[in-house]
Amino acid sequence: MIKKSEQKNLRIWPAIVNARCPKCREGKVFANPAYSFKGQKILKNCPRCGMLYEREPGYFYAAMYVGYAFIVAELVTLAVGTYILSGSENPWLYLGIMLSVVSLLAPFNYRYSRILLMHWLTPGLHYVPDAAENYQKNHPTT
Ligand SMILES: [Zn+2]
Repeated sequence: MIKKSEQKNLRIWPAIVNARCPKCREGKVFANPAYSFKGQKILKNCPRCGMLYEREPGYFYAAMYVGYAFIVAELVTLAVGTYILSGSENPWLYLGIMLSVVSLLAPFNYRYSRILLMHWLTPGLHYVPDAAENYQKNHPTT
């Protein structure tokens, strides 16, 4: 039996911020960085624990709802912030600011809507501290 002090217990926030696997919190979820010209490609399996990221066909469609919440929060914040800072009632100012900032945040929204879906909103998907070690023992070549 593993002593408590030896047992690995990775924290959830660094795993979310660094877009890591929800099961082992070590393996990458995306093949490329968020802001890359190569696009954002979700890996099929976790390279550390072998977890299949797309648990069922259409699993990531649910991330649209998380992304929608992100967009609404960003737009409301931008609108209120623009009004407080400028006091303007010109709709083109608001439209220009909102469209440009939301365009810049699109890769962020894409990535973290999927990460939050996997880490928090998927029933039955939990952190398993020794998932990576068990997978590496059973698949020594990978
Ligand atoms: Zn993993």
